[in-house]
Amino acid sequence: MDLSIVIPVYNEESRIKPFLRDLEDTIRRMPDYEIIFVNDGSKDSTMSILNDFSKKQREVKIISYKKNRGKGYAVRKGVLSSNGKKIIFIDADGSTKPQEIFQMLTLLDSYDVVVGDRTQYESSVDQPVLRQITGKLFNFYANLIFGINVKDNLCGFKGFQREVAKILFRNMISERWIFDVEIFYKIRKNNYSLRQMSIKWNHKEGTKIKPFDPFKMFLQLFFLRIKLMKK
Ligand code: UDP
Ligand code: MG
Repeated sequence: MDLSIVIPVYNEESRIKPFLRDLEDTIRRMPDYEIIFVNDGSKDSTMSILNDFSKKQREVKIISYKKNRGKGYAVRKGVLSSNGKKIIFIDADGSTKPQEIFQMLTLLDSYDVVVGDRTQYESSVDQPVLRQITGKLFNFYANLIFGINVKDNLCGFKGFQREVAKILFRNMISERWIFDVEIFYKIRKNNYSLRQMSIKWNHKEGTKIKPFDPFKMFLQLFFLRIKLMKK
């Protein structure tokens, strides 16, 4: 198996359909892949949309559980059960087009990890001001306390060579939004090669980030830093 595409999904009935159409178009041009949806405790009709998709397409697996555990937990589940030589995860809301996978695959021939970077398109994207500011602050703060230098920590489009993904996700302790930063910290610690790949950003309304989550994330990052010091 060349490629596993892991897709975390939580209550996406209103956003996932255009994404699935793009995904269909992408995998049609791919010889050898598997798709792993991780349904992170959706309460809406997401699961039946995924079931319909898996009936039409080959090589689609669905992992599903009742309780919402967070994006980090969902991605980890998917990565640990995937079989591809390369493993890519991508958000289900269509903010990154699955067509970008082709370029990521090429870069993964030369790098251990390749991550999407939306910052070049930031100014041209119709994004709420508050989200822009918290986003910038978050990147600044995460880079500062973890000693990393990543332009776009939270982009929901990241790819890994298989062994690297398994190592990074096996002991991951963050279950919700800040898991990406933990991954970047471990990439640096293990000296894996990292490429930030500029991608087009299509801002999607209806984020699952709740109003208080950014505050929680700032605190959680701080505690994560302390926990990781002991390791
Ligand atoms: N997601 C998830 N569990 C959660 C929250 C989000 O699996 O508890 C998924 C969601 O369905 C989407 C991805 O994580 O595929 C990113 O979520 P969202 O677009 O809301 O985040 P944002 O792009 O605003 O950071
Ligand atoms: Mg999104």
